[in-house]
Amino acid sequence: MKYYSTRNKDIKVSFSEAVLSGLAADGGLYMPENVPRLPRAFFNNIADMSLPDVCYAVASYALRDDVDATVLRRIVTETMNYEMPLVRLDGEIWAMELFHGPTMNFKDAGARFFGRILSYLHRESGKSGKYELSVMVSTSGNTGSAVASGLLGVPNVHVYVLYPSSVLTPMQEALFTTLGNNVTAIEVNGTIDDCRALTQQLLADPEMKAKMHFTSATSTNLARLLPHMFHYFWGYASLVRAGVAADNVVVSVPCGNLGNLFAGLLARGMGLPLKRFVAAENINHPFVSYLRSGVFEPQYSEPSIAPALDKGNPRNFERILSLCGGDVEELRKTVSGVVMTDEQTEAVMRNVWMRQHYLLDPHSAVSYGALVADIKPGEVGLALCTEHPAKLRALVERIIDCPVPLPKRAEPLADMARQVVHVNSGYKSIKNYFLSL
Ligand SMILES: *Cc1c(COP(=O)(O)O)cnc(C)c1O
Repeated sequence: MKYYSTRNKDIKVSFSEAVLSGLAADGGLYMPENVPRLPRAFFNNIADMSLPDVCYAVASYALRDDVDATVLRRIVTETMNYEMPLVRLDGEIWAMELFHGPTMNFKDAGARFFGRILSYLHRESGKSGKYELSVMVSTSGNTGSAVASGLLGVPNVHVYVLYPSSVLTPMQEALFTTLGNNVTAIEVNGTIDDCRALTQQLLADPEMKAKMHFTSATSTNLARLLPHMFHYFWGYASLVRAGVAADNVVVSVPCGNLGNLFAGLLARGMGLPLKRFVAAENINHPFVSYLRSGVFEPQYSEPSIAPALDKGNPRNFERILSLCGGDVEELRKTVSGVVMTDEQTEAVMRNVWMRQHYLLDPHSAVSYGALVADIKPGEVGLALCTEHPAKLRALVERIIDCPVPLPKRAEPLADMARQVVHVNSGYKSIKNYFLSL
């Protein structure tokens, strides 16, 4: 299959090029030329299939021309090697926990898949014997740890995580500074914007290009987005297995850069019989405003208690627009929007904790709260829960006024040695580091 740029349908590239370059040359995002449909029979059997089988079927329909079948099966099986349990919360409302991967965030699936696909495509290109790929990622929270963990130990790839000093929680920092191996953590004495600027300078510097082969792991890379589709297929399969009438399923998605929602729309385009979606945003709600008014106006983002949703200008909006042919009426048929303020989100967290003794992190509470507000009689609701409640532990503890246990596998992190390279925010400092390698 070919992939085209959202800004120019005539720019078409292979899957390999789309993944290795990340962004199209005109600054657009890559889109699949057509969305393959799975046969109906697949959905009749889906409840009896295992997680790797469901995900492999989806991946092979999307990528069969691009990735060798045996390799793809191995990659999918290695990617989805953790649980995604379904929890009944309230009547016809269910939560799907997507946060049991290594960094306790739903982006793990995309990052794990991306790392393995990248290594495979690099090898296929015939260049892996000649050089190693250096993957650059800037982070102020979850992306860096998900990408670092997803690429850990992947051959022919080294990942450099740039992060601003004194912004991350100790847990977020520990998740990627303790890995070692092919992961280097670089603390920048500056802001996240400084980190991004340094990355761009490195990628554009001819002297660096001669020495190293950089690529960036932006959240818009197709190989990071496609695996989000697995969550929707598995969610549907799990509901059918639980005996729920599955022709009326509404999925609520906590939206930041809209990659997850885009993957849901693609999954539906592949034939997954979901009825509709709720796009759940917080005080930063450019997409909900667009659904209401038909006009898209990027905003400055304001900090909230669900920081991964604080996006005033969501990167994947272009993709959603391209998918619906720029027709907001068309989009409204399958997506409704709900805004959750911080106060409402906190109230949801406290209520669910008191009534069901179930812990929602703020992002998942935005998802759940929006679903409760929007669900209609006869519908079955599935709230995607994207982050473990222990990830923003101090905040969650303050809101529910109760200690939040740390998952067993996160306990050793506190005592592990951190390996960090320190640079200042000027370009010279980081360039000297890379020249010294
Ligand atoms: C990234 C993220 C989101 C938002 O996903 P997008 O694909 O950017 O819309 C939601 N919740 C959590 C916890 C995240 O890390």
